[in-house]
Amino acid sequence: MARFYITTPIYYANDAPHVGSAYCTVNADAIARFQRLLGNDVFSLTGTDEHGQKLADAAEKNGFSPREWTDQTSALFQQAWDGLDIANDDFIRTTEPRHHETVKAFLSTIYERGFIYKDNYSGLYCVSCEDYYAEEDLDAGSCPVHGRPAVQMSEENYFFKLSAFQDQLLSWYEANPTAIQPATKRNEALSFIRSGLKDISITRTSLTWGVSVPWDETHVFYVWYDALINYLTAIGYGRDQERFAQWWPAVHHLIGKEILRFHCVWWPAMCMAAGIEPPANIFVHGWLLVGGKKLSKSMADDDAAPVKLTDIAPEVLTADFGVDPIRYYLLRETILGNDGDFSLEGIASRYNSDLANNLGNLVARVATLVGSKCDGIGPKVNKNSALAPLAAQVVAEASAAWSAFQPSVGLEVTWKLIAAANASLEQAEPWKLEPGEAVDAVLGDALEVLRLVAILASPAMPSVCQEIWGRLGLVGAPTDGDFATATMWGGYLGEVAVVKGDPLFPRRKV
Ligand SMILES: [Zn+2]
Repeated sequence: MARFYITTPIYYANDAPHVGSAYCTVNADAIARFQRLLGNDVFSLTGTDEHGQKLADAAEKNGFSPREWTDQTSALFQQAWDGLDIANDDFIRTTEPRHHETVKAFLSTIYERGFIYKDNYSGLYCVSCEDYYAEEDLDAGSCPVHGRPAVQMSEENYFFKLSAFQDQLLSWYEANPTAIQPATKRNEALSFIRSGLKDISITRTSLTWGVSVPWDETHVFYVWYDALINYLTAIGYGRDQERFAQWWPAVHHLIGKEILRFHCVWWPAMCMAAGIEPPANIFVHGWLLVGGKKLSKSMADDDAAPVKLTDIAPEVLTADFGVDPIRYYLLRETILGNDGDFSLEGIASRYNSDLANNLGNLVARVATLVGSKCDGIGPKVNKNSALAPLAAQVVAEASAAWSAFQPSVGLEVTWKLIAAANASLEQAEPWKLEPGEAVDAVLGDALEVLRLVAILASPAMPSVCQEIWGRLGLVGAPTDGDFATATMWGGYLGEVAVVKGDPLFPRRKV
């Protein structure tokens, strides 16, 4: 049994959960679910980043201590992910003692190995970003993100000797060509590294809400450098060596392209500095761009800023479309790694075409026909059906796609099987036939297709697939069996009652 460790970024607890973070989390969850389906030992991690001045300020503004405030904001993420049926194995909060302990152990090791040093730092600082800016990156002296004037700051900082790792990073990526995917993002990281790496300031004295520097308590680690270490905390770095060695370095970090440098440059260098292997795989996804008329219409007036992905709460969508259809859309619509579109029209169209007209229609048709032609008892599948070779091909291609972090392709391929079953029903027209062998053959095939689809689509739509499984008269769950055996054509043995239920996906107006 192979081990599979997957992480999302930890989300900043000062922001509300939104469709952008849901996009990453649903993809990581579905990929993890597929690995569980394959029988692998999976550890999937998400959580919240709870340090930094912005959070401390927000807490104060709202009349709470930072701790009370992050208890509330972090809970919003846990609720949002529960609402999207995310089956993470751990939820890490950077304010937990286990994390503080790990950060101190990890950064002390880097310090002892001589890659952290103290120096004077002065520069133009944005209080909201909690970061320094080069003069040329400012907008007439103001932060390009926040618009507030940057202030001249000077302080003693600890620096991480990032410059010492330029060659090592380049040879690491050369030796490990799939360490960053897709290739366009790998090239972006490589050209950044080749352009020359400067040492980075990793502590602040102006900050109190964070992990204090163990060898100099007047300093606190800058929020980013503590946050990245969450990936080690959750698997026992410095606390449980055996467990740590089981899961590291074979990790998959799923991240958005806005945090590529932190993950593809800073983070592997920090690992090297601490004497551990860099992460084996960083998969960088693109951004969804909000489009469509319906979301634009919700703008107050023409001058209002366009609706951003970060403005949309996932529960608004799931209340409207259902949890599984939203999961399906987030997984199916855009190739992971590319930028894509996000619109209500797009969700409705995907819902109607793939879910209502294809999958939902097949489920309803088959149950109705089994009711009228077979007294409600599902006929056994024909092992030598003409659909068997296609099914084998679909299982192989879908598995390969999911394993390559391509849920969109995995689902697209799976839907070929649904289309083939619908086509064979239309060709055979069992509704015109008397009960008998010909009817049993085409319905047995369709039931077997639905059994396979319930397994293959379960990482995307766990509840819907469980419902289909039950309607087919099957016991247990689509995720129960050994994958290779369960996905072989011929598993539907019949002689069980097929349930005719309500439409799984009532059609919607686009
Ligand atoms: Zn700023």
